[in-house]
This record gives sequence, structure tokens and C-alpha cells, in this order.
Amino acid sequence: MLHEMTPRQIKNRVPAIEGWFTLDESAPALLGSRCGACGTVYFPAESYFCKNPACDGSEFSPVPLSRRGRVWSYTDARYQPPSPYVAADPYEPFALVAVELVAEKMVVLGQVVPGISVDDIAVGDEVELVLDTLYEDDENEYLVWKWKPAASPASPRAGASL
Ligand SMILES: [Zn+2]
Repeated sequence: MLHEMTPRQIKNRVPAIEGWFTLDESAPALLGSRCGACGTVYFPAESYFCKNPACDGSEFSPVPLSRRGRVWSYTDARYQPPSPYVAADPYEPFALVAVELVAEKMVVLGQVVPGISVDDIAVGDEVELVLDTLYEDDENEYLVWKWKPAASPASPRAGASL
């Protein structure tokens, strides 16, 4: 009776990549790991060996990363995503940012939320982590982290963050 299957249901929201971020919709965070010996934070999480050449640590504890950072670099992704990705028609290019997390001393890449183009982004802008749909199938929405301009009253482009 497959053809009589359920009417359209609300889809499960699941991570596109397991274990890389929390699913806290209001305050999601990337999940890294901190070396117990030297305190270096890694993302994606390290599990076996510390990459610090001066450290022989092999114990790591999970740590949520800062939810805000500053744009360190950015670019435009102008290619059409491959099948089976269902792209918007016409395809809308999205922006990619490299975001510096000061506390963790690292740079994390991510897509920028839809509606924000590279014209809306400048190096040094503060951005905030959000969850958004990367793609979906009949049952699930697959979530990934994206960066969104942080609300800033001083910004001359305040309207762009809405
Ligand atoms: Zn270490």
C-alpha cells in the first residue's frame, strides 16, 4: 500500500554531518575538541593525537565553539551544485565566509545564509552561527551551520541582516 502512504508530514531536522554541531535551534554551536594537555581547540574535533608538534596529548574533551566571529575572508560560490541537490531556479549563488574565532584562535569556513551576498559582507564584520537547511529528501531536512551577519546597531547595512 505504498501508494497510499502518509500525507506530507513535517520533516525531521537532522544534521547533514553528524556530530559537528549542536541542534539547539536558538543557539547552535559548532562542536570542537580541546586537548587535555595543551588546551588547543580543534574543529572538526580531534580524537586521537594532538596536532601541536610540542604536545603529546591524546585526551580530548568536546567543547562548543564561539557562536560569533569576524569575517576573515570571503568568496562567492557561483557554481551550480551537483545532483541530487535541488537548486533554486534560477540558481542563486551563495557566499562563503572564513570566520575567525578569536577565543579558539581558528578560522572556520561556512556558507552565508540565503539573501546575503558578498556585496553585503566585509572583512571584519561580526557574524553569528545559525542552522539552515542544506538539502532535503522525502523524510528529512538536512541541516548545516551557516553564518549570518550579527545584529549591529552601528552597521550602515543594518537592513541586510534581516
Ligand atoms: Zn595538545
